[in-house]
Amino acid sequence: MRDRLISVAVPVPALGLLTYSIPGGVPVPPIGARVIVPVGPRTLTGVMLGEVAAADTAYTIKPIKSLVDNLAFVPSDVVRLTQWVSEYYLAGPGATLAAALPPHGLTARTDRFKTVRVAALTAAGIDAAERLAAHSACADPGPKLGKRQVEALTLLKGAPDGLAAPALSERGITSAALIRLKSLGLIAMRHDRVDRDPFEHAVSESNPQGPREATAEQRRALDTLRPLIEAGSFAVALLHGVTGSGKTEIYMRLADAVRKSGRGVLMLVPEIALTPQVAALFRARFGTAVAIQHSGLSDGERHDQWHRIRRGEVDVVIGTRSAVFAPLANPGLIIVDEEHDTSYKQDETPRYHGRDVAIMRAKFANALVVLGSATPTLESYTNALEGKYTLVVLNKRVLDRPLADVSVVSMREEIAEAGDDVVLSRPLIAAIGERLDRGEQSLILLNRRGFATAVICRQCSATLECPNCSITLTIHTHGSHWNGRCHYCNFMKPVPKVCEKCAAPYMERVGFGTERVEAEVRKAFPSARVARVDRDTVRRKGSLVQTLAKVARKEIDVLIGTQMIAKGHDFPDVTLVGVISADVGLGLADFRSNERTFQLLTQVAGRAGRGERRGEAIIQSLLPKHYAITLACTQDYRAFYDTEIKYRKTMRYPPQVAMVNVVVRGKTFDDAMKAARELANEARNESGFALLGPAPAPLTKLRGEHRAQFFLKGTNRRIMREALQLALSRKPSLGKRISVDVDPLSML
Ligand code: ADP
Ligand code: ZN
Repeated sequence: MRDRLISVAVPVPALGLLTYSIPGGVPVPPIGARVIVPVGPRTLTGVMLGEVAAADTAYTIKPIKSLVDNLAFVPSDVVRLTQWVSEYYLAGPGATLAAALPPHGLTARTDRFKTVRVAALTAAGIDAAERLAAHSACADPGPKLGKRQVEALTLLKGAPDGLAAPALSERGITSAALIRLKSLGLIAMRHDRVDRDPFEHAVSESNPQGPREATAEQRRALDTLRPLIEAGSFAVALLHGVTGSGKTEIYMRLADAVRKSGRGVLMLVPEIALTPQVAALFRARFGTAVAIQHSGLSDGERHDQWHRIRRGEVDVVIGTRSAVFAPLANPGLIIVDEEHDTSYKQDETPRYHGRDVAIMRAKFANALVVLGSATPTLESYTNALEGKYTLVVLNKRVLDRPLADVSVVSMREEIAEAGDDVVLSRPLIAAIGERLDRGEQSLILLNRRGFATAVICRQCSATLECPNCSITLTIHTHGSHWNGRCHYCNFMKPVPKVCEKCAAPYMERVGFGTERVEAEVRKAFPSARVARVDRDTVRRKGSLVQTLAKVARKEIDVLIGTQMIAKGHDFPDVTLVGVISADVGLGLADFRSNERTFQLLTQVAGRAGRGERRGEAIIQSLLPKHYAITLACTQDYRAFYDTEIKYRKTMRYPPQVAMVNVVVRGKTFDDAMKAARELANEARNESGFALLGPAPAPLTKLRGEHRAQFFLKGTNRRIMREALQLALSRKPSLGKRISVDVDPLSML
């Protein structure tokens, strides 16, 4: 028999598809099966992607070393999805596969479990426990038992499958007590393999609610959405519901219907911190058939969850971006909650958008996608208006709760009154004070970390720059020390006492971030319980969840944070939201900055007044008349959309056209520009799109590399991709120095 050739992807980012031969007589494995292959001097586990015709290559094709599976390990529809991602985003198959699989997904041959000791009653133990229950008053069940041992028997009586030793020890039952019970023949001990439980970091406060009566708007939405599920064909619905309109309840009811029809449910959420809350709600309603997948889990946890899904033990998967690749069989419903959230876009290769991959996955699976948001992206809303998506609207908060009252404070006036350095306006201070008096909570948002934006020498105007990036260092406090830190590469150094350029001792801090806001709130309200969440405070695993749980338990009066606090949390006692410097984002050289600002303000205002008391939002801004701010105040999405889409059309920006961003790196700036010009000129030979640039990237230097960039703009992504591929094939040496971003969200 002839050798057959197969195409194999190995999860090594730099590697493309590899071709191997399968010796005659050995069966060709199915797509998605693992194979062990030689790669240079190494031996790697890869995934079979398909059979290929006799290859016309200069090099000799090596045979595979061995087959791991004779069934697909990665489900074939997920393999197909990764191939689509790799093609659409111009990313290598190795990188794409690595993004789609759990850590060590290919190397682990068997499922790894944690083992625990489990105690269970024996027949004699059941007797003893029953006698104990019957004679609890006189308490003489036979053998002399200590208090702990009696407690253990009582607990175990209620658990026919036994209880894990760690769970017992949490209740004060030591292993000595268990050993004694075992020696009396009352209990047996066994070892069980259990999945590590990712819910141990979950917010336990989220009160699990049972099904309840749907509101009239929810019913109408469900009447539109249910038939789309029953049809069993591909469809996309945009659920545009104001904050607090009860979108989660709709997701859960749809999920229930899909599970009952025997298909799976995949739900994507933007933030790791939100996953436990949503997961806890779903768990409360659907029990243990829910799995959770996100990058905040430990490798072991992710691995366990991946295998649980793969074994078909769950029918609901909740997770962040990468969960879109979960090995869930036969998904019938894919939910993308907060579809406008930028964390759905991966900012390294493959630069995929979780929402768009979800839509493709649904297309392959004949499933319904529900995109939910109070502030849909211009892209999704345009698709809905054009009839590509079904638009479902929730205009009101549940139980007729009003939206928050939003007002704008002009910071020009505050500065005129109180000086340049004012952080908290008088109306905001008064409002926080009222909340403290009434025992209600406040959220204060500033979308900028650190204490000060920079330090500047008052004599020569020099600032503290990052040596690796073209950016000034942000100033953070560290006890009584001041440190400058780069938010791109994490370079850090103490702020010098004197200027490094002119030696003058006048280093002044300018601008402010969340650390400063925290200090100001503590100063104004010394007895308030204050906490801060931003990327600096949440480095520690679980700390964000812990802080949010404290807010839920009302152990925090004022929570300060970056956009993290604007997302989906549902805290009924928050009645005030303050926004400091609402215009932070408006100055950025990014055509989406208006949209981002509008989304952020509307979302954060939506955190106020979700309980029985009415909410208020106070927005501080230097640009109080900007439409992104005034329309967020009136929470008028449609007016914002109509204004913004005109600007995008005039300027030919997405969604009017599609864009591809190409960044070229070099050792020097000239080097980067030269390479970018070469590549751009090759691409210019093709037609069907506009090419802008090359020009210095807004961050001309990043992590020690110089950067130039150019954009492709056009209506046909395939033509742009092919032009780039062609250009790259003519300049193969540049392949390692570029990053391609299809549908970029960031222009940096
Ligand atoms: P959204 O995601 O649209 O901002 P949520 O799903 O968080 O809104 O719902 C807002 C609040 O309303 C939550 O506290 C939720 O428990 C409650 N809620 C949702 N639906 C109902 C309902 N039908 N009856 C009563 N309360 C509801
Ligand atoms: Zn840096």
